[in-house]
Amino acid sequence: MRLGVLAMLLVASSLVLSAQTSLLTAEQRAQFHGPYSQPEDPFRLLGNIYYVGAKNIASYLISTPQGHILVDTGTKEMTPVVRGNIQALGFNVRDIKIMLSSHAHFDHIGGHAAMKKLTGARVMALRQDAEALEAGKDLSPLGDEGWEPVKVDRVLQDGDTVTLGETTLRAVWAPGHTPGCTVWTSSVQDAGKIFSFAIFGCGGPNAGVKLVGNPKFPTLVDDTLATFRKLKMLAPDIYVTGHPQMLFAGKIGRMKAGERPHALLDPGARAWTKMLDDAETNFMKRVEAERAQGSGR
Ligand SMILES: [Zn+2]
Repeated sequence: MRLGVLAMLLVASSLVLSAQTSLLTAEQRAQFHGPYSQPEDPFRLLGNIYYVGAKNIASYLISTPQGHILVDTGTKEMTPVVRGNIQALGFNVRDIKIMLSSHAHFDHIGGHAAMKKLTGARVMALRQDAEALEAGKDLSPLGDEGWEPVKVDRVLQDGDTVTLGETTLRAVWAPGHTPGCTVWTSSVQDAGKIFSFAIFGCGGPNAGVKLVGNPKFPTLVDDTLATFRKLKMLAPDIYVTGHPQMLFAGKIGRMKAGERPHALLDPGARAWTKMLDDAETNFMKRVEAERAQGSGR
């Protein structure tokens, strides 16, 4: 009898544990590795920036006469997709000199190790995400799937710049979604005009993540609020995201056709500001809900 109860307790506690180890559902994970990772035709996005990612997970190639920069490699399933897209545009993957990332989650850097082997590129990342890249583990509060560990050749700090040829990208540290989340900004010349441009992959923390006093990320609430304030100031002319299917909906053909004004142009940063305002509102609701629960005990 006692053994039976003990066995039941063990089963129950392991269920609780397995529920806690992943905040993503099996369906969500299948979506990342499946439909989101399916090939998308590559295209020139703006100036020397190309979309080389999959259906709903981005990878951006920034081309210069001195070689290329690749931002995000997607899931491990996407390595052939990204490589094929780069080749289809007429570029050589061996010319990729630098690999960057928006944040250390399996759906954005899952292909880093394989791509580094293919290209010999130098991997650069902000310190907090560099640790995760090298550990091969998701060290963020999401704590989901890991990846093949990858050596980080240059550890960056907030505001550091990465230059190749005439192109300079600036790392804007945007902790929240992961502790080392990075928004990449640049000035891009396109058809005789200069545009401020941002690669944004860092909203609030994933659904289900404990926000207040999270042991994996004790400063999460203050850091995320500071990130929202900081990012609103950027107000880029054109921004792209890590899961761009919605942002690109109905616009890929226009971008391929080179339509100007650009299909993603965001006058007055209205879409950018709304995106961040909405994310902040949603985040504050979650924080207040947690605090109300905590004080009710
Ligand atoms: Zn993520």
